[in-house]
Amino acid sequence: MTSLSPALKQATPVVVDHALGSWIHGTDGKDYLDFTTGIGVTSTGHCHPKVVAAAREQVGKIIHAQYTTVMHKPLLELTEKLGEVLPAGLDSVFYANSGSEAVEAAIRLARMATARPNIVVFQGGFHGRTVAAASLTTAGTKFSAGFSPLMAGVHMSAFPYAYRYGWDEAAAVRFALQELDYLLQTRTAPNDTAAFLIEPALGDGGYLPTPPAFMEGLRERADKYGIQLIFDEVQAGVGRMGKFWGHQYSRATPDILITAKGIASGFPISAIAASTETMSKAWPGSQGGTYGGNAVSAAAGVATLEVVKEENLVENSRIRGEQLLTGLKDIQTRFPVIGDVRGRGLMLGIEFTGEDGKPDASTAAAVQQATTDQGLLTLTCGPAGNVVRLIPALVVTAEEIAAGLDRFEAAVGAVVG
Ligand code: PMP
Repeated sequence: MTSLSPALKQATPVVVDHALGSWIHGTDGKDYLDFTTGIGVTSTGHCHPKVVAAAREQVGKIIHAQYTTVMHKPLLELTEKLGEVLPAGLDSVFYANSGSEAVEAAIRLARMATARPNIVVFQGGFHGRTVAAASLTTAGTKFSAGFSPLMAGVHMSAFPYAYRYGWDEAAAVRFALQELDYLLQTRTAPNDTAAFLIEPALGDGGYLPTPPAFMEGLRERADKYGIQLIFDEVQAGVGRMGKFWGHQYSRATPDILITAKGIASGFPISAIAASTETMSKAWPGSQGGTYGGNAVSAAAGVATLEVVKEENLVENSRIRGEQLLTGLKDIQTRFPVIGDVRGRGLMLGIEFTGEDGKPDASTAAAVQQATTDQGLLTLTCGPAGNVVRLIPALVVTAEEIAAGLDRFEAAVGAVVG
């Protein structure tokens, strides 16, 4: 009998029958409160009626209009809608299918725009699974071990991980910026450096918001040296962090912004945005792909952006996120095994640590499994695997957050007593 590859690692045994809003109904007959949202994808909740209707309608019109052959209306509409939310000056958009592909497109663009080879990434960053994207990923060796050689020209600098250093945030930012300056003096000269690539919050690398002062320090250096600043908003964007873009907690804006996941509520589409001036440094035909900017995905994207606006989902993310964070901090007071609780909006991480303060991956893994038993779906993340991450849908209600907190506490209690 044919089966799925064991290279897929399953976080839960749940098989979905159907899903709606924040809830997944399993073939086991149980209802699960979904705080994973397909890894931060189903922003408007599962099967939002407006998204479903837009996709259904588009399927009956045209499913695949290859965008370098014939253009289609949904992509033009999505581009216009994105224009309402993109940072000022980023007025040119290129579409692909996945986050990884968009990351690759951003790197290609940064290299072409600067005629420089090197990319600087920050420890714990996750940028995807394709070989180039995996080369930019430092969220754990599991994302690259065993299939080297990776893409050349990637240099890693420190991330200001205040909690792990045992420092305050300002000290961690000072340290990480000094490390970056040192890297530019010792390993990749500014004239050889095309881009800094960073997430507004580490995602797979531990659900750790990037301090605004660090983003601003990167912006200063990017301006000084003509380096492209790329913000990977694949996981953090579209309201996930309680602002439309995660980087909006800082004063820094990117030269190139990458988006995917939440932009189309589960339909595969991704995009990069830059100024027309930067984008025109990529010669016509240098970017492309058969399925990029798919018509059904684009229609779902338009509906998603409308729902996010009409239902005030960015605001809901901020308010429900505060409720969830406050509840988790309260739970933390009863369980010393919870070392840190953090995040913004509905992108929250709970870091499990032993008595010695060291990462405790086995407790995190046991809690993640125990939440499934309690009817709450969660995931782990972090280089050590000791962070449980909560990623509810942006439509989540106060009652669902309260139920999630109860189930999470019951799961921790079941594991550590
Ligand atoms: N960048 C970030 C920040 C991500 O979180 C992810 C996916 N987890 C990716 C890139 C890669 O996206 P995809 O899995 O769609 O290729």
